[in-house]
Amino acid sequence: MRKPFIAGNWKMNTDSYTSVQLAKDVAHGLEDIAGHPVDVAVIPPFVYISAVVGALSTYQIAVGAQDVYFEHKGAFTGEISPAMLKDIGCAYVLCGHSERRHVIKETDELINKKVSASISGGLLPILCVGELIEERKANKTEEVVKRQVEKGLAGLSPEKFSAVTLAYEPVWAIGTGLTATPQQAQEVHSMIRQLIAKLYGNQLAQETRILYGGSVKPDNAAELMRQQDVDGLLVGGASLSAKDFIAIVRASV
Ligand code: PEP
Repeated sequence: MRKPFIAGNWKMNTDSYTSVQLAKDVAHGLEDIAGHPVDVAVIPPFVYISAVVGALSTYQIAVGAQDVYFEHKGAFTGEISPAMLKDIGCAYVLCGHSERRHVIKETDELINKKVSASISGGLLPILCVGELIEERKANKTEEVVKRQVEKGLAGLSPEKFSAVTLAYEPVWAIGTGLTATPQQAQEVHSMIRQLIAKLYGNQLAQETRILYGGSVKPDNAAELMRQQDVDGLLVGGASLSAKDFIAIVRASV
């Protein structure tokens, strides 16, 4: 069975003090369930990653980055490479988060390069996909999500693909307080798994974790996690409260 995976995306929040404090509070609050079958990660802003890695060094909580560039090194002012993230102790990296797709205007092609370079650099990418509200209303959810998955994974061998986690995050549910119903989430997750089966075969499809993200809170986490194809949660706003994030992890084990 797929091990549940709960990740907290802190976005552009916290500072040098509160990032470490939040990481420590989460770690302390989950101490009694260390060893339970659940993977937990926190995803701070780049500049606080090292401090958070240090704060969590004796805990089984992984650290991720919110973005990455696809080149290894060189004249790419302002960018951060997979090798750099690996070097400072990052395990995961978000690729194609909706805020990068829609605010920073990242394309599927760029996201694909980031996914591929991350794996080559020893990171575990979390490829985020999801439709806008207009696309859902126009019955285009499947078409949009399918395109984002196919293009995001283009050219990846099965070996490389096995490092990937997928996250379905309907854009209309991110940071809005609107959550997809468990049935809406299950429908899209099941479609994504069928697509992965077509691309990589049934065994890899069954092994791949597909997270749900979009206004996950302590009171809706358990029901989302009960869906057959929901293997974990990507939590934004609620991951900034240690109490809420801990409750979400507990609801998922
Ligand atoms: C996210 O940032 O990936 C997210 C799902 O945010 P929120 O939980 O705040 O909707």
